[in-house]
Amino acid sequence: MRASCRGVALAAAVAVATAAAAVGLQLPERHFGCPPAKNVCVYPIDTAVLQCEALFDFQVELHVVANASVANPVLDELTIRLRLPSGEVTTPAALFPGATPEFRTWALTAFRDMSDENPTGYDAYAVTYRNVFVPLRVGKGYVTVTVEARGVTTEVSYEIRAPTTRAAKNVVLFVGDGMSLPMMTAARLVSRGMYQGKYKDKLTMQAMDNIALMSTSGVDSIITDSANSASTYHTGQKTSVNALGVYADSGDDVFAHPKQELLTEYIKQTMGMSVGVVTTAEVQDATPASTWAHVRQRAEKAAITAQAINGCLNCVLAVRPDVLMGGGGKFFQPAFSVDGSDMYQNYSAAGYTVTHTREEMVAAAKNPATKKLLTISHAGNMEVWLDRNVYQGNMDKAANDPTGKGVPPTQQPNLDEMTMAAIDVLSRNDKGFYLLVEAASIDKSAHPLDIPRMLSDLIELDNTVQQVVDWAKAHGDDTLIIATADHAHGYDVFGTVDTQLWNNAVQSSPSNPVRDTDNYCAAVTDNAGQSFPSAFANGTTSARASNLARRASIGTYAAAGYSDYVNRGDNFPKTWNVRTTLASGMNNHPDHTTSFTVATSIKKPAVLVDGAFVNNAKDDENGVFQSGNLGPTGSTGVHTLADVGVFASGPGAERVKGMLDNTDLYHIMASALGVGTDGRREKK
Ligand SMILES: [Zn+2]
Repeated sequence: MRASCRGVALAAAVAVATAAAAVGLQLPERHFGCPPAKNVCVYPIDTAVLQCEALFDFQVELHVVANASVANPVLDELTIRLRLPSGEVTTPAALFPGATPEFRTWALTAFRDMSDENPTGYDAYAVTYRNVFVPLRVGKGYVTVTVEARGVTTEVSYEIRAPTTRAAKNVVLFVGDGMSLPMMTAARLVSRGMYQGKYKDKLTMQAMDNIALMSTSGVDSIITDSANSASTYHTGQKTSVNALGVYADSGDDVFAHPKQELLTEYIKQTMGMSVGVVTTAEVQDATPASTWAHVRQRAEKAAITAQAINGCLNCVLAVRPDVLMGGGGKFFQPAFSVDGSDMYQNYSAAGYTVTHTREEMVAAAKNPATKKLLTISHAGNMEVWLDRNVYQGNMDKAANDPTGKGVPPTQQPNLDEMTMAAIDVLSRNDKGFYLLVEAASIDKSAHPLDIPRMLSDLIELDNTVQQVVDWAKAHGDDTLIIATADHAHGYDVFGTVDTQLWNNAVQSSPSNPVRDTDNYCAAVTDNAGQSFPSAFANGTTSARASNLARRASIGTYAAAGYSDYVNRGDNFPKTWNVRTTLASGMNNHPDHTTSFTVATSIKKPAVLVDGAFVNNAKDDENGVFQSGNLGPTGSTGVHTLADVGVFASGPGAERVKGMLDNTDLYHIMASALGVGTDGRREKK
């Protein structure tokens, strides 16, 4: 049995289902969007915190074991009551005037409990009130929803937040994707250095006025992905892995799940603010898409590309971000777009200036006539900072230009260039702007265990934050700036490595340990029918000796000393190929080898052999073997549970303190912008 209570425990949030078995309603497990009695699901979910005036789809869903004796009449017997903070008891029809209930049914299969070997067939019945909101008159406090169906009573409770006076004209949210606190410590050491045990300087993010810790788990799992985490930042609502702007109900239609309004939708529709989105990933990737998309599966990238300008099923409006920058050109091309059309042309028809290179982007941003700017400079994810700026030869290797011309995309802008160009355009709106900036490849480098690329993108993010902090100070000091991550990766530093000693150990080993490593790696197949070479298993051969000789180059405690990175003046090290580098790594990984050095080309730690990922012998040929601790289909490292840091300055930053939940971030931004103030939506 899974634990049923999530997030903030509310006294009123008690579900009772004592009569379920007697009347034919069963308890399907694994529908994690449902409250504790999982035969009756209510969305928004129990413990949700709702902002007055923010839209949501209110849905009640019943699960009935599929057999003839308990067929259709369930919805007819359903009663829904809402108790308001004032004590008044009302109905959905009265609280949400004008909303027409939508009735749907579908079949599903689910495990009744974790011990079931086979899933059970159910009929699901749902009633949905689309695009409703809690009006200002309800006031702050708790709303309790009581659902009765065939003698089964389920209660969920929502906290209602009343609006606050607007304090910030603009909000800029930086998301270092996967940026854990130990990564920031390592980046500070690499970037700023250390003297007599003290950091020489802080990262810009660490120098901000307010700092907090934040938990990142989702409705369905302790471990979040970028979709449900970023979605939560923009809705204030929890959701499930892979979901954007919706609660995950049990239905199959990925576009029909109960929606949660995005902050971007509210501020565009009711406040006339501008919205900008900058990423180094594909613009359809989870974090950027969380500013406009409503879809159960983040993988619907072609549809997500269209949703930005066309809106979505049952949506009030299309967000049409005023600035959209990053990669993802593939899904704009007719061969891959949702309807075979040229999405660049569609964006152009929707008022966008379409650009593909740094020079085009800068020129368009400086042109006062540019109202909407699309800059797509890569077919997929943009190259990481280290390849854009140091190992530039890597950029020429693949024909990934954004328009499908079959040439390399060598004119990709850096994150700070995109961000400041975005602000050029967005700041022309007197009503203010919201800008999301994602440093995507902190995460995308952490997955393949590529630590220098991960840290270089973190430093690029931090330099970008500095430029925006400087811009905000020079432009009225009325911009709330927040920098955080969406989830962690299991990274830390445990010492240093003398790479010269390491290489000496490789070179001087009498029986050529490099070759031994190759042989070992080629043969390794673990206990899924695979045998370790006896040479390693015995631990007595030259291969074992060379492994130990290399590991003798790792210093811990007093033997660690300091690493050799030197700031070249722009917070990046003069060289990443230092003699004394960091001994660091991930707490989860596939079989792989590491020598702790910078890889001159993109890393691929493991390769698929007979259905399981094993060490890629070619990835780090001087490396020592690390036995995988993930399942056999795990090709890279994965996200982890650790709380992330939140760093903030500007009006509204004072709410960033102590221990936060990721739902709080929305409410901090919504409060700073005065979402719901004056009952704007009700008056419309
Ligand atoms: Zn990730």
